[in-house]
Amino acid sequence: MPIWPGDPAVELEQVQQIEAGDPVNVSVLRCGVHSGTHVDAPWHFLPQGTTSEHLSLDVLIGPAVVAYLPDAAVITAHDLEQLHLPAQTTRLLLRTRNSERWTAGEQQFSEDFVALSADAAQWIVERDIRLVGIDYLSIQRYHDGPETHQILLTAGVIIIETLNLAGVEPGQYELLCLPILLVGAEAALARAVLREL
Ligand SMILES: [Zn+2]
Repeated sequence: MPIWPGDPAVELEQVQQIEAGDPVNVSVLRCGVHSGTHVDAPWHFLPQGTTSEHLSLDVLIGPAVVAYLPDAAVITAHDLEQLHLPAQTTRLLLRTRNSERWTAGEQQFSEDFVALSADAAQWIVERDIRLVGIDYLSIQRYHDGPETHQILLTAGVIIIETLNLAGVEPGQYELLCLPILLVGAEAALARAVLREL
């Protein structure tokens, strides 16, 4: 799987094996907390921010809108405005051409993924959206400054990264996203699924 440059690889090692004469199978997982689908906590970018055990499950579970922006290289406030989202949208998941990378089985990290500009982050905050998800490893572009993350996390918007939205039709769903309970971390691995309403 693609890993953020500099982060450790994901390793799953079997340290006890029934086949080798051990009484049980036991595995050890080693990875960074931004591996695969994960949720960022404010402390990731804010020195006084809260850590992952304080992520609100009320926000992580509930109605969500999936929007599809197949042509965007960067998602701006203007692009979000053009989506004409339902008025009560509180959770927004952005399907872009990034998701095609998952379908293709890409294993190398790519720098030219689609993500949000800082003005798009501001738009999300002003619209009172409480959660935003993106289908690659970061909500902000690789060569951008930290503003997109900072704006969202300062406002308490929850960020889900590395979603796979391939084949998900735009529309309204129920999102169930449960980050594992890590105390004192700036992010947590999560399983995220959509249910049709
Ligand atoms: Zn992250």
